[in-house]
Amino acid sequence: MRTEARMRGSPKLSQAIRVLRRLLGRVGREDAISYPWHGRVSVFHLLLAEFYLRRTTRKVVARVFPLLRRAYPTASRLALGNPAAVWRLTRPTGLRNRSYELIRLARAIVSRGRIGSDHDEIESLPSVGPYIADAILLYGLGHCHFPLDENVRRVLVRATRGSDPKANPRPYQDMSLVSTVRRLILGLPAESVKNVHRGILHVGWKYCRADPLCPECPLLSTCEYSRARPRRQRDK
Ligand code: SF4
Repeated sequence: MRTEARMRGSPKLSQAIRVLRRLLGRVGREDAISYPWHGRVSVFHLLLAEFYLRRTTRKVVARVFPLLRRAYPTASRLALGNPAAVWRLTRPTGLRNRSYELIRLARAIVSRGRIGSDHDEIESLPSVGPYIADAILLYGLGHCHFPLDENVRRVLVRATRGSDPKANPRPYQDMSLVSTVRRLILGLPAESVKNVHRGILHVGWKYCRADPLCPECPLLSTCEYSRARPRRQRDK
């Protein structure tokens, strides 16, 4: 989700958004698990991780990522590889077709000579959607973009609107969600945006599940959803 240009002229931040931003930033900085692709990795390797993260769990990607990284240090090496070799390394994902798609992706990068540095350019790569493009821009290139997925939507809709998100629209079409995110990260530098994003993912994975663990959640003090639930249910 692009934010920089559209943030000018946004309304003043409400107290609730300030509190939410502070809590999420702290969770992202202090509590969120750090995975290998969050460290010092190349943009190409971050892309490999995000490519699998869209379809499988973080734990599985954490197993195969070091193998892929070692076997394919560059897009050129991967472009010369073959799907059977990729599949041998990525079997725990169960995503055999992704091996073919990954080679196709590497060949597209080699053919145009770069991954890209703006959203449209990155998203035009095969098998790359808006989430991956935003993840590359934020975590790989340090731009103030914000990847939106169902985790982000569930946490923010519950915390700010006090209800469960409806099945539709999808996160990138949910203009109310987009507006909340813009206010949430208004004026923040990219490092802080990363912390807020990591904080939301952490809360979504650990507490804000289908059956939320509100009493343990770090957002409890400010969350509208928790406030709206009957006390006996919240404390069970
Ligand atoms: S307090 Fe409950 S509903 Fe609110 S974000 Fe945390 S887990 Fe989700």
